[in-house]
Amino acid sequence: MLKVSENNNIAQDFDLFIANFKDRLSDLFNKEYDYNALSLTRGLPPDFLSEIMDMRPLSVAIPTHHGGRGLHVKECLGVLAAASYESLSLSLIFGINIALFLEPFAKYGNTLLQERIFHQFLENKAMGGLMITEPAYGSDALNMRTCYSQKEDKYHIQGEKHWQGLTGAADFWLVTARKKNEHGELVRDIDFFVTDNSIEEQKIEVLKKYNSLGLYAIPYGLNHIDIEVPVDYRLTPESTGIKLMLDTLHRSRLQFPGMGMGFIKRMLDESMKHCTERRVAGIPLNEMDSVKFQLSRLQAAFTLCSAMCSYSASVSSINNDLSSHAVDANSVKALVTDLMHESAQICVQLSGANGYKLDHIAGRGLVDSRPFQIFEGSNEMLYTQVAEAIAKLMRKSKENNLLAYLKKYNATELAAPFFSSILNFDFPLQPKQREMVTLGKIIARVVCFQFVLQINNAGFNDGMTEIARQHISMDLYMLVGQLSNNNNAEPLMNYGEKTDWMSFTS
Ligand SMILES: Cc1cc2nc3c(=O)[nH]c(=O)nc-3n(C[C@H](O)[C@H](O)[C@H](O)COP(=O)(O)OP(=O)(O)OC[C@H]3O[C@@H](n4cnc5c(N)ncnc54)[C@H](O)[C@@H]3O)c2cc1C
Repeated sequence: MLKVSENNNIAQDFDLFIANFKDRLSDLFNKEYDYNALSLTRGLPPDFLSEIMDMRPLSVAIPTHHGGRGLHVKECLGVLAAASYESLSLSLIFGINIALFLEPFAKYGNTLLQERIFHQFLENKAMGGLMITEPAYGSDALNMRTCYSQKEDKYHIQGEKHWQGLTGAADFWLVTARKKNEHGELVRDIDFFVTDNSIEEQKIEVLKKYNSLGLYAIPYGLNHIDIEVPVDYRLTPESTGIKLMLDTLHRSRLQFPGMGMGFIKRMLDESMKHCTERRVAGIPLNEMDSVKFQLSRLQAAFTLCSAMCSYSASVSSINNDLSSHAVDANSVKALVTDLMHESAQICVQLSGANGYKLDHIAGRGLVDSRPFQIFEGSNEMLYTQVAEAIAKLMRKSKENNLLAYLKKYNATELAAPFFSSILNFDFPLQPKQREMVTLGKIIARVVCFQFVLQINNAGFNDGMTEIARQHISMDLYMLVGQLSNNNNAEPLMNYGEKTDWMSFTS
């Protein structure tokens, strides 16, 4: 076994580890470096990143027998939350490494390879990422064209991937590809391969860097893959590769609240502070009713995200198979990312014109949180999948009424009775896709409110729980209203005809 250096923080108690980590991050972001300059330049300065990695944040996602802290979800989410309080980009860098590389590699990777690669992460500040998306296959990832064939004891992998977080910066990648059969056709299943950029025949070429709108610290771009890896670099699925992919993506989606937690808390803290200090027409903003409404909405987001973290810590360990967790994982990812972006919108609005500065924490947060609603499954797609899963279960149990079903469904049985009058309607017989998105939003909110009830039972603040209940109730009313409106509008493809207002105005 390779040894990690003597003077490390791996053996530290987690409370101490995370307290030191938070303090050091706060000093680095707010005292030693200029946050404004950092947030506006692409990439993090190497010495700055190096100081952060000196604290070995990724040790939380490395098994103890390889020298790490042992992949406890609570610790992983703690590190993500501490980072996202200072910088959403930094948290996403950790999120990519933890959920998209280290966890699947720890669960499905070859043991000898693990020893070498985990050592690189612990001792040499290595980074890893995941390549799924291709220019022509994003939401439709299962139809990806990147393919592989076996040549003696190696796999030859060829294709193009784009928008990978840490493009050109990660040392290791998990690359997804489909096997080419003897007739030259691509099989349906998907396999995952570890690649090591320091080995010439495994090096992935960056064809282009993208000018991403936000998340400046993270490089994105277009990658050309024409590499060879030894056979033991393929991850070993328990059954199919698609199940491995679902297990990995559901785990990652369930761990999004770690990134959401610090970010939403920061939007809340900044808004509370600003609204206490800023006076308009002689009164502090926080005494105005509509401002109170917005602050309470941020607190509802904070409470929901806290409850999601607690739930995730209890289920998303690599020891559990999450391939069938579509309802909870997709509900959590879609709702928490909607809450993150809404929290940034509220913070910008309450900050007034200052919020519109490129280097204002909320202005940056607005742009940085936006792609979370697109990547790892666009939210519309995930809400649709939540509604489809419940519709299927309802058909199976021959129940048409949503309330009746949610009252007996395990993931919603505690929460559904809180919204009885709102949810008491029949699931549409042949819903349109837009209705499925709305239904998914409704179900996701009930699922996640159940997490709030669970954390409240464990002692979480009653006042904050009540605020979350009121906002979920309001959202459900709005969504059910949207559903009952039967909106059927179809865009006119030739909308230019007879639509120039000048022709109708003298
Ligand atoms: C900042 C950022 C980071 C990323 N990081 C990574 C990474 O690390 N690794 C990686 O492999 N990829 C990554 N991606 C890629 C990301 O996962 C894809 O962009 C995403 O899956 C969407 O694919 P697409 O861009 O091809 O959009 P498309 O598939 O073309 O979809 C476009 C839009 O169409 C709508 N849509 C599509 N399908 C449906 C549906 N079924 N129902 C309803 N609406 C639908 C949605 O509004 C969707 O946003 C990242 C992207 C961004 C922006």
